[in-house]
Amino acid sequence: MMRIGILGAAGRMGRAIAEAAPAIGAELGGGVDRDGAVFGPFADAAELAVGTDVLIDFSVPDALAAHLDIARVDGGAIVIGTTGLTSEHHRLIEVAANDVAVLQAANMSLGVNLLAALVEQAAARLGPDWDIEVLEMHHRHKVDAPSGTALLLGEAAAKGRGVSLCAPNLDRNGRREEGAIGFASLRGGSVAGDHLVVLAGEGERIELGHRAETRAIFARGAIRAAQWLAGKPAGRYSMADVLGL
Ligand code: NAD
Repeated sequence: MMRIGILGAAGRMGRAIAEAAPAIGAELGGGVDRDGAVFGPFADAAELAVGTDVLIDFSVPDALAAHLDIARVDGGAIVIGTTGLTSEHHRLIEVAANDVAVLQAANMSLGVNLLAALVEQAAARLGPDWDIEVLEMHHRHKVDAPSGTALLLGEAAAKGRGVSLCAPNLDRNGRREEGAIGFASLRGGSVAGDHLVVLAGEGERIELGHRAETRAIFARGAIRAAQWLAGKPAGRYSMADVLGL
């Protein structure tokens, strides 16, 4: 049976994956965090990679380069759920994908990935006179904003419109720029993740949204992604590939 190794195993998502695995019939080989083993026999990420078939990384952006190097040396596969990634992180993922199977997704849930497809379709049908705003709310401990999922939805809208998502739209002051895709972030309490894409026209509005009620949906999605990725040739993959969207 395919064995999974968790990077960031002491965190909220790491623990959610460990909890979700038995019901899905996934075997966990071990889990490590910043200070070493959390469960299983492996002392660090390098040992974990050798002793397992697929790594699942829900840690911090600063650890990504090291985790990709470890996956490349081991030649296994790696699922990356960590968000707050910069364009440099994405470049490192592209480079690593020459040597190892890498699946990166800012959101591992079926619902959000389907929502992204719907947003892309709506943005493609509606003209640039429809304003697009992405709203999100997460728990008080979240460190990045806008959320990786909000950016994923913004990218989907931009793709539908045939434009690229511009950085200045992430930091809006005052007046709305024509054609901009806007973002708004709320933080508080224990919210697992709410996203709403508002397409606002003259005199009417479309709202497409998703509410995550539990982290278990991301954990199950990450495990499903790891099962799908095991044994795949080197390359970069997405949740849309796993879910057949
Ligand atoms: P968290 O802060 O609870 O956990 C992160 C863990 O990573 C911590 O235990 C921390 O000690 C550990 N860590 C830090 N440096 C490390 C290193 N060098 N090696 C190994 N572990 C290290 O955060 P969380 O809520 O579990 O979220 C983790 C990441 O996953 C965040 O970026 C979050 O936005 C993202 N996330 C993604 C999805 C998705 O579906 N893709 C869903 C939820 C959260």
